[in-house]
Amino acid sequence: MKILDGKKVRDILAEKIRTELQKIKAKPVLAIIQVGDDERSSVYVRQKRSFGEKLGFEVRHIKLDEHASELHLLLQIEKLNSDENINGIIVQLPLPKQINTLKVIETIDPKKDIDGLNSKNLRFLLENIPGGFMPATTKGVLSLLDFYKIPLAGKKVTVIGRSLLVGKPTALALMNRGATVTVCHSQTKHMKDEVRKADIVVVAAGRPKLITRNFVRKGQVVIDVGITKVGDGLLGDVDFKAVFPIVKAITPVPGGVGPMTVVSLFENLLISYKRQKGLE
Ligand code: NAD
Repeated sequence: MKILDGKKVRDILAEKIRTELQKIKAKPVLAIIQVGDDERSSVYVRQKRSFGEKLGFEVRHIKLDEHASELHLLLQIEKLNSDENINGIIVQLPLPKQINTLKVIETIDPKKDIDGLNSKNLRFLLENIPGGFMPATTKGVLSLLDFYKIPLAGKKVTVIGRSLLVGKPTALALMNRGATVTVCHSQTKHMKDEVRKADIVVVAAGRPKLITRNFVRKGQVVIDVGITKVGDGLLGDVDFKAVFPIVKAITPVPGGVGPMTVVSLFENLLISYKRQKGLE
């Protein structure tokens, strides 16, 4: 079980989604709004679009000029909120400086906010109650651990990173599953000790090779969320070559959490569609 293979698990979950869409004869629609031409954002949008279309969804890519005003973006979102044919809305982050990201996220109808970042959706996670949408990366991490039957209840988990997008929701979700969670961030002292004491380590800092062999020990599970583009390649936050021989299981980058995030997003889109149609 050494490598936690995100691509393999993604393909299994994708097949489930495809089968279900055929069974209910549905073609849910996702709208992705991108502001500007940021190269990484364009790559992510293209990936989501081609993956979603392969599964049987419709994905509409709405592109706004990089100088678009906040008001213009908010009006676009409101149009999509009230369009019955749109089942999910994503605003590709990061946004240009003239736009207040939190305001944008809060404008998305929580019932269509399949990224799960709206405060109404995060509330479900805070209160540990069903409903809402779990942020895709968090959901992907949990699905991967579940697929490989890695127990969480009673386990010590150290999460590195406290962002709204990844670190915080992941820490909450793990806590909700019964793990004892420690959160580390850029101001944490003695991070090595916090990582070494964990049964499971989730790293989401965006700092290549932050976790070296000295941080880990035998028997641990390491989930590397980090993605940093270096040259033509992508690097995770873990020094994979050095850590792999020591730990019990580890995710590669690429091919670990990345594919799980994308499939989780479309799981959320299917849930969103079914709720809107009264199918669940
Ligand atoms: P962010 O920059 O918003 O947050 C990074 C967090 O890491 C912060 O809380 C910061 O305190 C912490 N941090 C930074 N340097 C640190 C250090 N030296 N030691 C300890 N903590 C440190 O980034 P984010 O949006 O949370 O994303 C984190 C990483 O995950 C990025 O590489 C991003 O590209 C990647 N990501 C991957 C996926 C995926 O699907 N695999 C999805 C989203 C984000």
